[in-house]
This record gives sequence, C-alpha cells and structure tokens, in this order.
Amino acid sequence: MFKRVLIANRGEIALRISRALRELGVEVCIIHGREDRLSLPVRLSDRAIPLYRSNPLDSYLDYEAVIQAAIDIGAEAIHPGYGFLAENSHFAKRCEEEGITFIGPSAEVISLLGDKIEARKAMESAGLPVARGSESAISDTETASKLAEKIGYPVIIKAAAGGGGIGMQIVNEESVFESALNLCQSRAKSAFGDSRVFVEKYIEGAQHVEFQVLADGTNAIHFGERFCSIQRRHQKLVEEGPWLTPEVREEIGNRVCEGAISVGYKGLATFEFLRDKHGDFYFLEVNPRVQVEHTVTEMITGHDLVKLGIRIAAGEKLPLTQSQIIFSGHAIQCRLNAEDPIKFVPSPGKLWDCHFPGGNGVRVDTHAHIGYEMPGCFDSLLAKLVVLGVDRNEAISKMKAALKETTLIGVETVIPLHQAIMDEPDFIARDITIQYLEKHHNLLG
Ligand code: ADP
Repeated sequence: MFKRVLIANRGEIALRISRALRELGVEVCIIHGREDRLSLPVRLSDRAIPLYRSNPLDSYLDYEAVIQAAIDIGAEAIHPGYGFLAENSHFAKRCEEEGITFIGPSAEVISLLGDKIEARKAMESAGLPVARGSESAISDTETASKLAEKIGYPVIIKAAAGGGGIGMQIVNEESVFESALNLCQSRAKSAFGDSRVFVEKYIEGAQHVEFQVLADGTNAIHFGERFCSIQRRHQKLVEEGPWLTPEVREEIGNRVCEGAISVGYKGLATFEFLRDKHGDFYFLEVNPRVQVEHTVTEMITGHDLVKLGIRIAAGEKLPLTQSQIIFSGHAIQCRLNAEDPIKFVPSPGKLWDCHFPGGNGVRVDTHAHIGYEMPGCFDSLLAKLVVLGVDRNEAISKMKAALKETTLIGVETVIPLHQAIMDEPDFIARDITIQYLEKHHNLLG
C-alpha cells in the first residue's frame, strides 16, 4: 500500500477519499484553492498544499502544479476523485512520466474512453449493444443529415469529447438539423476545445441504467446496476438500486466485464446505458473514475469501492470474485444541491445552521457544517443523502423521514423537490424515464 497519497479534489469526494486513505493507513495530503482553505477535507488532512489562483477552478486544474506538489511532499500517488482532472489523459500521462501513480486507468485507456466515438466502437466490438449512429466524427452537414434520415428522427447530436450533458441537441426533424449541429459543434468547441460531434438515435422513453465495475487490468467484476433516470439538464438528481432482475443483471454485467477486460481496464469504472421501453440496452459511455453515486452500490453490496479502487492502483489483483458480490436491500440517494429547487440556479452562501439525519440505514456524505461558506464558483453539490431499506418501499419511507430531519439554513436546496418526488405516484410505481422531471414539471406547484 502507498505511504502517502495526494488528493487533487475538493468537497464531499475529497472527504470520502480521505476517509478511505485513513482506513488503509495512508497519510492524507490534499491540494486546495483559497475558497477551500477552511474546508473539512483540508482541516482533516495530514498535510494541505495551497495552490491559490485568481480563477478558483484553476487551483484544481493546474496539473503541473498538482504534480509538483506531489513531488515536493513525496506522495507516491494522486487521487483525482471525479470532475477536475479525473478524466484528463494528459494529466494521467504526466503522472506516469513522473513515476507517480494516477489512481485510475492508464492515460491510454482514459483517452480511448474519453472519446465517445472511439469508446462506442471499442465497446461495440467487445459485444456491448450500442444505439444506431455515426461511426466517425461528423464534419459536413449533408452527410450528417443523410445519416440522421437513415437512422430516423428523432436523433441526438453529441460532442465526441462530451461530459455533463453539455452541448447535446435533440433533433426531431430535418429542417432544424443544421442549426442544431452548428450549436452542438460550437458548444463542444468552447467547453471541451474539440468541436467533433456525432449523431445517435434518440432513444425515446428511455431509462438510465449504469453498471459499476472494478477491474485490475486482466480481470473484471461488476457490482450490479444503479438506476439514475431522474435528471435535470442531463445531470442526475436521484439514484437508486438495484433495478433489474438478477437474470438481466447477470447478462449485462458479464458483458460490461468483457468490455472492461477488452481495453485492459484498471480501477473503478461505470458503464452507462439507456434502456428502452422494450428492455433493450444501448451503451452510452464509460466513466473511468469513482462516481458521485458509488454510495448507492456501497449500501447494497457492503463493499467499500473507494478503498478497492486505491488497492487496485497500489498493484493488488482483484481481491473479490463475482460470487462474493451479494446484493441486499434497496438504496436511494438524493443529491442535496444548493440550488433553487424550481429553476436549479445555484444558491451559494453561508450555512447558519446545518443538521443531517442519522440512524439505521442512513448515510450522509458531505463536507458541509455550520458556518460553511458554500462557494458559488464550484459544483452545487452540498451533500449526498443515502438510505438503505429492506425493499424499495422502506427505502422511500426512510428517505422521506431523513429529508424531513435535514436542516440547511442559509442556502436554498433541492430538498423540497426530493420530498415531492418521494410522494409522487409515478415515482412510487417505478414508472420513470429520463424525461421524468420534464413530465412532472409542476411537482412544486
Ligand atoms: P454526458 O457524458 O455528457 O453526461 P451521456 O452520453 O452520458 O453524456 O448522456 C447523458 C444523458 O443524456 C443520458 O442519461 C440521457 O438522459 C441523455 N442521452 C444521451 N444519449 C441519448 C440518446 N441516444 N437517446 C436519449 N437520451 C440520450
């Protein structure tokens, strides 16, 4: 195991990683920007390295400075968490060059999977089902609109380098195709510095189902699925699991393991799919890192995914077999974002009061505390509230009780929306697609 690891992240995930490192007996180091100098993960670290920048995001994005910090303190590995540098293949490569372990897959694998077009191709040849779409990047409108015609409208135009739902355009008819294509290309260029886009069949009435995988470069196991269809602006708000029957879980689970093995994957990965109303699966992408919602899987399997990811990075082979992954109960996670619950506009500010629920089967992952100044320049995720019930109905009741107990004074949060969802008949009946929030836009009256 490593002696000293540097966390290149902030907020709840930095704290989550710090806990895992401590349990493994590893010294916890962290870089931080000015806004986070008093934050819990910084205060609880053994060593904190300030990287103050005039643009707060740059503190976490200046990868040469992060690598230099790791060298200066003698850290053998860097944990990137999610977001920021987690999917940056240049950063992973620079770590490799400096002899620092990047906790995640190789730079080569990140770069392959970071390109949605290449990832689609790789996973299709590994036997995963993909939606009909373009096999290479789209350069001219004519070829693209011919392809869209062939696939059949509606189609979705997506950025090859995409993430966070940025730039995606759903197109229902040919007349608006060109303008949507241009819009997606320009958004992709400004967000990712890469204007390549591709076209895919838009799966109507789809559900978002994803598989958690752990691989060691040679072998892979899966930890079942999470259901994440309740999204705003293509970003998840509520996640839960399990969702599928054991037979379907085994079938798709085996295929994702094949997919991970085919690219020599090492570490934690999430294979995202859409599932249509007939139950057919379509591969979307692989997220090559720990995910916000890994907590749901930890609750229903009892395994600590973050620790497992670190152990694999330290050179261990898979310490578990597929038959040791046993599912028990039902977990639901609500993301408690500091946002207006109707328009989802970020609501930064100081937490004058802050109380989180506890008790049997209730878990809160958060860096929030009384007096915490929620900055406006970062992601609005303030806390993750996760519950485990013996079944889905108990999990819903537990979530309702837990939401009621949660006190966050000083910022607006999406708690009222979560409360309305937990009481909504379609949610209770599992009648949920990725359009859920659009279809239930008046949940808060
Ligand atoms: P990103 O990496 O930007 O998050 P994804 O490919 O993972 O993009 O898709 C994010 C979300 O966008 C999906 O969960 C779904 O809601 C929607 N989406 C993406 N592709 C399709 C598609 N082919 N049909 C319908 N919805 C889609």
